Amino acid sequence: MNILVINCGSSSLKFQLIDSNTEECKASGLCERIGMDESCITYKPANGEKEKKVSPMPDHKEAIRLVIEALTNEKTGALKSLSEIDAVGHRLVHGGEKFNKSVIINDEVIKAVEECNDLAPLHNPANIIGINACKALMPNVPMVGVFDTAIHQTMPAKAYLYGTPYEYYEKYGVRKYGFHGSSHSFVSKRAAELVGKSYEDCKTIVCHLGNGSSICAVENGKSVDTSMGLTPLEGLLMGTRSGDIDAGALEYIMKKENIDFKEMMTILNKKSGFLGVSGVSSDCRDVESAAADGNERAKAAMDVFFYRVAKTVGGYIAAMNGVDVIAFTAGIGENDKHTREEIMKYFGYMGIKIDAEKNSLRGEEVMISTPDSKVKVYVIPTNEELKIARETAALVK
Ligand code: AMP
Repeated sequence: MNILVINCGSSSLKFQLIDSNTEECKASGLCERIGMDESCITYKPANGEKEKKVSPMPDHKEAIRLVIEALTNEKTGALKSLSEIDAVGHRLVHGGEKFNKSVIINDEVIKAVEECNDLAPLHNPANIIGINACKALMPNVPMVGVFDTAIHQTMPAKAYLYGTPYEYYEKYGVRKYGFHGSSHSFVSKRAAELVGKSYEDCKTIVCHLGNGSSICAVENGKSVDTSMGLTPLEGLLMGTRSGDIDAGALEYIMKKENIDFKEMMTILNKKSGFLGVSGVSSDCRDVESAAADGNERAKAAMDVFFYRVAKTVGGYIAAMNGVDVIAFTAGIGENDKHTREEIMKYFGYMGIKIDAEKNSLRGEEVMISTPDSKVKVYVIPTNEELKIARETAALVK
């Protein structure tokens, strides 16, 4: 089956065309600056050159039309005609407590996703725009929604409840939801396979470390805790997000800086994390190289990052009363040997040992622990689009 996987943001749209039988990505690309000047589409067929074209895209419908045009282009297209698209899989950010698995999209589902808009006001409306644009151009093609939050719906109340008045949970759904679901699910399944255990009998910790970072504890095939919360702001130090902070500090900063809550949130989401602490960049590579050159703030940013990841992994080992495998994934997790080494140093007491040579490999699936390590540690490149294509194919079959 040809599955078109769509990841729709407010002004961008990423896509991949995946053959669900061979799991091959036949083409991929990105529409940028939708609704702005100089919007452009980048398209790359599997065995061809990447092409970038400036093309007006006043809305997402036009963006999808251009995606279809590129996919069916006579010379470079991966398809002969639109009719070869068997299904569309949409990455949907927030399904609240309404969705604990992927679903075939119908009007009822769209309404329920809309009801979660308050929980993800930047992401969910954009996801729905993407769904409606596909519906308008491909009315007879089935669509599936795959939620970032769904796999975490198995968390027990002790993991998801905040210490706020219970009525906020009851009235407004204030609780931890967690994100990066497709990645945590894809990587934890693969980790169980690699250590030769059944998914239903394996304790895995997935460290998804990228521009946005989160960790997930997967016990016997179920997410039992994760570091992001009601929103992706909770947890680790990230590219531009602060991660955990004492809420009391917000009032203090707002008073001192004379800023309102909206501005405070912009600072926590866009001007904090690696960028805010180091003052160098939100990109881990820049911060690490500044730290290596002796920049103290950059070093502090990296140290906070390593420490928080290690504390979270340690906490999840306690939560599951053990761990079989720890997996690193996403931009930093897959590529940065120094980060993996520094984090794993915290677990020497547990008998976890890292093989320096294996850890030097970049961006490939590899076991980086030594054969006598008490816990196996892997790098597993994530593939969220493939996970979405698999879920989509399974539901529309
Ligand atoms: P992602 O959000 O998964 O695309 O990851 C983006 C992050 O990965 C950025 O902070 C990059 O700095 C980081 N990254 C990518 N390649 C490397 C690398 N070779 N070493 C360290 N960090 C990297």
